[in-house]
Amino acid sequence: MDNKTLKREYTELQKQLSRIGYICNGTVMSSYRKCGKPSCSCKDDPQMRHGPYHIWTRKEKGKTVTRSLSKTQSDHCSDYMQNFKEMENIIDKMKKISIQIIEQSKNN
Ligand SMILES: [Zn+2]
Repeated sequence: MDNKTLKREYTELQKQLSRIGYICNGTVMSSYRKCGKPSCSCKDDPQMRHGPYHIWTRKEKGKTVTRSLSKTQSDHCSDYMQNFKEMENIIDKMKKISIQIIEQSKNN
């Protein structure tokens, strides 16, 4: 690819990056649980288990942070994670183009 094309592609990626919405990292797990009360019907019947509980786990400065989310929060969180993946994708492409631009400027 020539320099001009690379620069045009890079500008396009910058635009895409500026359109990315909120971002977050980690994973959200939804699960049903037993409450542990001996009298509760969840004890024997899997259908009677409580939930779903939405548990968000992420790394922050090397530590695992766990949060319990509502359904709405969990939906938002999943969207933001998707945005984050897209952002990483775009940044990856930007890096590749930047490398090519460095390589091409060798003899300039
Ligand atoms: Zn229960």
